[in-house]
Amino acid sequence: MLYIVATPIGNLKDITFRAVEILKSVDLIACEDTRHTKILLEYYGISKPTTSFFQHNRFIKGEYLLNLLKEGKNIALVSDAGTPGILDPGYNLINLAIRNNIELTFIPGPTAFVNALVLSGKPTHEFIFAGFLPNRSLARQNRLKKLANLKQTIVFYESCHRILATLEDILAVFGDKEIVTARELTKKFEEVKRGPVKDILEELRRQKPRGEFVVVI
Ligand code: SAM
Repeated sequence: MLYIVATPIGNLKDITFRAVEILKSVDLIACEDTRHTKILLEYYGISKPTTSFFQHNRFIKGEYLLNLLKEGKNIALVSDAGTPGILDPGYNLINLAIRNNIELTFIPGPTAFVNALVLSGKPTHEFIFAGFLPNRSLARQNRLKKLANLKQTIVFYESCHRILATLEDILAVFGDKEIVTARELTKKFEEVKRGPVKDILEELRRQKPRGEFVVVI
């Protein structure tokens, strides 16, 4: 059986009892970065073999894990943060398992965009999760223009390296709209900024942006 296990997005305590139980019981834990996941495993006294499953080995490692599953092994799939399959290579293994009739289940937990959406105070009855926007400004603006035609709340991920450029593009496409940026969610320096794009840009320019961001429009 393949257990898709959500793990914390920052605060090690954000994991369910069932997730810990499953991680203690499986034969193998497939992680994006084994060193990163070891911190969590050590915190909960879990000593199980781990193997890496990430973007660049996902096809070859996917086949390897599939064979183990076919032999009857129980495998847990975790990612570096949050829910496997949400913008990480977990999707490939899940898809492969389904195509090969492997039994699978999901042990739910944190996902960064849900935290940001809830904290944003924006309407949540309909929303679009836009993943990561393109890296290059022209492509990003084009994507934002398409999103601007929608009526729903828009939520997407952004890194600290691109947040300023992305906010400038939001300003260019949407005007000085009320938006929300959420940073370091569940961590010690969690910070949610709500306000017109220009104000948030100004604040973020003053202190070099750090950490991981979610933006809600
Ligand atoms: N699987 C993850 C999930 O369930 O949310 C998402 C993985 S994606 C590769 C990583 C991105 O998620 C980061 O670049 C950031 O935008 C967002 N993210 C993850 N943890 C976060 C946190 N604690 N605070 C804000 N954003 C976070």
